[in-house]
Amino acid sequence: MDAQVSFLDQLFNQGILHDSGVDGLYARSAAFEDVISRFEEFALSFGQDEISEAMVFPPGMPLTDFETSGYMKNFPQLAGTVHAFCGSDHDHMGLIQCMAAGEDWSESQKKTDVALTPAACYPLYPILARRGRLPEAGAYVALQSYCFRNEPSKEPTRMQMFRQREYVRVGTEEQTIEFRETWKQRGQEMMRILELPHEVEVANDPFFGRVGRMMGASQREQELKFELVIPVNSGANPTACMSFNYHMDNFGKAWNIQQADGSPAHTACVGFGLERLALALFRHHGFDVNAWPNSVRSALWG
Ligand code: ATP
Ligand code: ZN
Ligand code: MG
Repeated sequence: MDAQVSFLDQLFNQGILHDSGVDGLYARSAAFEDVISRFEEFALSFGQDEISEAMVFPPGMPLTDFETSGYMKNFPQLAGTVHAFCGSDHDHMGLIQCMAAGEDWSESQKKTDVALTPAACYPLYPILARRGRLPEAGAYVALQSYCFRNEPSKEPTRMQMFRQREYVRVGTEEQTIEFRETWKQRGQEMMRILELPHEVEVANDPFFGRVGRMMGASQREQELKFELVIPVNSGANPTACMSFNYHMDNFGKAWNIQQADGSPAHTACVGFGLERLALALFRHHGFDVNAWPNSVRSALWG
């Protein structure tokens, strides 16, 4: 690839993504979406015998559940909440005048019942909690959601709105740890089949502020998070395309998800960054999917 032109500009030039004028907010071409759906099928084939159910979420979740998640405590810099106009005729006139004058018109915007989903598994936990105690086998859910993170970037791999496909395991400590180890292996197996260079490494989430740095260090020390990284952007560090997370019983306690014996459930999830994996495939196999290696094509298109 031409090193003079950034990967993002190449994606625009090739018509794979379309610029919107806002970093991290792109329209996807049919070719890009086809790769994502093929990858999702491929990923689903690895866990289909184990899952207890599948769900797809809208890009927003209940604000109260978002509050319960602790996201504003840990990652306030990334969060997005939905606000809407709730004023009177008089307020509306003020709004229109402010807009016309190019002034701040957000004063009459009030919070709604909706937050943008920051991580695909968050909307699942309150749904499970409402069902009462888990069965002995726990829960094993395949899900997908659009996510929002306020992190505009020129790197195409860091979008503001993107999709995660996840498998989530909820149950005992043993069930969730075994799940996480299995998927660490399976994730690498998937990447071998798709002929993408990769490594798995211990990682931490970008907890906010000074206290956050300590939380990140402790997360690493306890090896709660691993990432599968692939070189995608030129010259930069390799990009996390999958993550393998063990939350202990933190979410079980926060949302009151109970194991069969009534104790707080443990949770673990494996997240596939769908846009990042598609970008990794374009990066390593070229912009023309018809010219991808036969083995990769047959894994994805059958
Ligand atoms: P990074 O360290 O690169 O910011 P992350 O640790 O925030 O990644 P997770 O929170 O574990 O990532 O999210 C699960 C998966 O979602 C990631 O492995 C990645 O593939 C994808 N992902 C995360 N943030 C973005 C983003 N801004 N744009 C596109 N995909 C993303
Ligand atoms: Zn998750
Ligand atoms: Mg991040």
